[in-house]
Amino acid sequence: VEDSVAEDMARFEESFIGINKKYRLINRIGEGTFSTVYKAEDLQYDDFQNRWDIDERENTKWSSPSHRRRQSKSRPRYVAIKKIYVTSSPIRIFNELELLHDLKNSESVCPLITAFRHLDQVVAILPYFQHRDFREYFRDMTVSDIRLYFRSLFTALRSVHAKRILHRDIKPTNFLYNPQQARGVLVDFGLAEREGTDWHQCACTLSTEERRYRISHSVYAATLNSGNQHSSYPKTDTRSSRRANRAGTRGFRAPEVLLKCTQQNTSIDMWSAGVILFTLLSRRFPFFHSADDIDALLEITSIFGRKKMREISLLHGQVFETNIPSYSDGGHSLEKIILWCTGRSQKDEKTGKKIELQDEEKEAVQFLYRLMECDPAKRITAEEALRHSFIAKAFE
Ligand code: ADP
Ligand code: MG
Repeated sequence: VEDSVAEDMARFEESFIGINKKYRLINRIGEGTFSTVYKAEDLQYDDFQNRWDIDERENTKWSSPSHRRRQSKSRPRYVAIKKIYVTSSPIRIFNELELLHDLKNSESVCPLITAFRHLDQVVAILPYFQHRDFREYFRDMTVSDIRLYFRSLFTALRSVHAKRILHRDIKPTNFLYNPQQARGVLVDFGLAEREGTDWHQCACTLSTEERRYRISHSVYAATLNSGNQHSSYPKTDTRSSRRANRAGTRGFRAPEVLLKCTQQNTSIDMWSAGVILFTLLSRRFPFFHSADDIDALLEITSIFGRKKMREISLLHGQVFETNIPSYSDGGHSLEKIILWCTGRSQKDEKTGKKIELQDEEKEAVQFLYRLMECDPAKRITAEEALRHSFIAKAFE
């Protein structure tokens, strides 16, 4: 353990009175935007299965739990202590713990063991899950490995979505995966929320007729009708700006999140899962790296093209315009992008033919189109994904 980490752990043990009676801190394993996570040994854990052979009388002589453990050869239990930054609002902390509590029996979701508070500091205790860093293995995954990864991720998402909860921050660091066991657990419900927490009506919930009517009566239409074809970004825009939940990690945000749709649902997590699949197939991580939301929209535009972006923007009552000439109208196929990213865009030297994706990669791309579907209403659900032929093969 590095000196600075050891110091940080010592400071935490000192400030959080009583924590060292319950846990022995081992290492710092995560430092994010909202928390610091430590690996620790649970000192009060009674491993009954491994203790059955211990004499009752003898047992009472041992005072401290850690001493007892050393005597009985029982396996220690490791936990992850998530120290939530004190700057987080109490409502936000409560929300995370409450959702974790609701999800405690959900398959492939890391359960909450307990939580403690000392003064303004809250810690969540989770079972430690052995996993590997995504960056270590993502380049080496075969299509079969990819199937197994997503079988596990969609199992988690199915159980979360069944409770009508949006995770909102699906990305590799929040899905702890163990490639050897082909099993993972979903963590980090810090941004999660219940479906329908939303406030205003987004145009995407309207019927086609209603949407048409609204657009034809909009400020945009008025500008166009006034003969101003080159409607530019209004300098003194008096309209109130739209507010919607945009939480999450930029490169993984669904188009409707970027377009500030106010009626976001569980399908936003499926888009993010799609970005992970795109990463795996293209062997590029991170696939998107945008500076802001507009940049993120343009990255999506460079793939799907202007036409598609105009269509989906209208879906949410927004108007998409860009004067950047390099974006094509039709965009590019995902197959082509994957071939580019994996250095297979040239023609085969021997045959002179275009190199194609392998059959199982093609199948993966068909599935990818269902995840990175720009219209949230048409996007595949976790439940459907598990039945999709691409994933179903992992069950054979
Ligand atoms: P944050 O909100 O700060 O992102 P997370 O809940 O995502 O916090 O945890 C941060 C990191 O800590 C994770 O990416 C992972 O590396 C590690 N971690 C979190 N929970 C566990 C766990 N149960 N087992 C092992 N490592 C964990
Ligand atoms: Mg996280």
